[in-house]
Amino acid sequence: MTSFGVGLSREQKDEAAKIASELARIAKTGEVLPGSIVSRRTHCGRPGCRCMAEPPQPHGPYYQWTRKVASKTVGRWLSPEQAGDYQIFIDNHRRLRELFTRLEAIGLQTLEADPRTRHQR
Ligand SMILES: [Zn+2]
Repeated sequence: MTSFGVGLSREQKDEAAKIASELARIAKTGEVLPGSIVSRRTHCGRPGCRCMAEPPQPHGPYYQWTRKVASKTVGRWLSPEQAGDYQIFIDNHRRLRELFTRLEAIGLQTLEADPRTRHQR
């Protein structure tokens, strides 16, 4: 029961406990990285290069980590080994955001269910 007298439902408490344990499990690894890892294959365009052959054999794949910061994309090139190693970091970050969204939903449901909440038109 919260201080304002509106309790979370049993289901919401169970959900929050599940989220908390998964959050803790991921946080303990410390393996969290925003952004995404993409692989790119390129064509240098030099005449006679294999990337211009028929059929073309593009260069790469080259791996790149990218992240949007204040609507600008920043990136780092990664070795193939790094790309493999860091994918779990990316996946963990995505999962944290999902878990956070679920926690927010519980808060929103609680606010909506609070009889003191005045609904705006
Ligand atoms: Zn080429």
